[in-house]
Amino acid sequence: MSSIKLRFLGAAGGIVTGSCHYIDTPYIKAVVDCGMFQGERKNEALNWRNFDFDPAKLDVVFLTHAHLDHVGRLPLLVKHGFKGKIIATDATRDLAYIVMQDATKLHMEAVERGRVTVNGQPVSMPLWDQSDVEAVMRRFQIYDYGEKVDLKKGVTFRMREAGHILGSVSFELWLQNAAGRTRKLVFSGDLGQTGARIIRDPDFIREADYVIVESTYGGRYHKDKSSTILEFLSILDDIARDNSVAVIPTFAVERTQEILYELNLLVEKNVVDPGLKFYLDSPMASKATMIFERYRKYYDQDALDLIRAGDDIFKFRGFEIIENVKQSKQLAYAKKAVIMAGSGMCTGGRVLHHLINFLPDSKNHLVFVGFQVPGTLGRRILDGAKKVRIYGKTVEVKAQVHSLGGFSAHADQGDLMYWLRNFGHYPREVFIVHGDNDNRIALKIKIENELQLSTNLPELGQEYELD
Ligand SMILES: [Zn+2]
Ligand SMILES: [Zn+2]
Repeated sequence: MSSIKLRFLGAAGGIVTGSCHYIDTPYIKAVVDCGMFQGERKNEALNWRNFDFDPAKLDVVFLTHAHLDHVGRLPLLVKHGFKGKIIATDATRDLAYIVMQDATKLHMEAVERGRVTVNGQPVSMPLWDQSDVEAVMRRFQIYDYGEKVDLKKGVTFRMREAGHILGSVSFELWLQNAAGRTRKLVFSGDLGQTGARIIRDPDFIREADYVIVESTYGGRYHKDKSSTILEFLSILDDIARDNSVAVIPTFAVERTQEILYELNLLVEKNVVDPGLKFYLDSPMASKATMIFERYRKYYDQDALDLIRAGDDIFKFRGFEIIENVKQSKQLAYAKKAVIMAGSGMCTGGRVLHHLINFLPDSKNHLVFVGFQVPGTLGRRILDGAKKVRIYGKTVEVKAQVHSLGGFSAHADQGDLMYWLRNFGHYPREVFIVHGDNDNRIALKIKIENELQLSTNLPELGQEYELD
């Protein structure tokens, strides 16, 4: 009789978002993450289906990090009866709070505009509200990296650095089956690039029976960091020369802080035009930056050295935080300026107004710094759309479009293989999740050829019995 079941309820079947992996053993029912499906309408609709398990019978959520595609459905989970623990780092808890608050606001607005449908019918009431977010916050139980915790009989876990965003973890889980034998599962969570700014590099894990690994960039290599910086510098030179504007759609958490960190270095080394202005036009990114300042204990050595030398890594000449909508509107007249505004995939937020203003001029630049989910406006522009619709207007895309992969929060194929190769005791099975078909299949082929491991590409809803 098999007794450890693993079911893939999100970030599977070629869908990148909606992370949620269900574990069922004689001792625990748990999920790793409970995120939101994003992007195409048919994916968004998956958010409003009933959970494929009873939330009231769920003991634990192991939460890898605070991105929306990992935390977005926690308020729904609580609303549907979840009373267990959410196990996470303190930084994840604090970041998850602002991410969920923002998502809740967007959900309420979407309901008002009749954009949320369940079984083909628009819903008239929000499916959850801010009180459910508050209820989520009461379920958190905070642990540190590296401590091995016996949670209950038959269940032990340890959190390891995933190097993806502040507070992000990979989970090691030791689970006992009905025969009393322990099986070790490792969930990578989203893995970061080695050498990323501010946060530390991912930990390597030596042993596992089963590995569940992400594959966002499983088939690709990022341009290296130095060519990313060179391209960024030439954009800054262009806007200084042309009196133009670079718009950066920002992801509030991590991307923004890494860009600020990079700008801080460039400005203080005097390698950019002293007349340049830098605007952060994202209330959520400002809040996230404050949380970063609260958790310096998770910074890498380079960042700590800068701070020790007296530098404020998020403050520099020409930098200004935009506080309100009136100031945001005035940015329409900006020149020689970098405007960082949310949302990161241009699906909403203040960045849309800046796109309307600045996309039609070929002297301007649009700079993507993170993954663009298929179905989003950001992805359409990145894929070369010459005209896009924003707020009912047709906007010509004449600005120069860039994608700076070196700023990505995600490991590329080389990083993922490096992480996998470090399992000294090779896993019996690898499950590849969190990737579109091109990327997950490319990673599967690579793993099979180079590591001779058995791999699976789980479909949405698919269940596996482990040994
Ligand atoms: Zn993430
Ligand atoms: Zn993710």
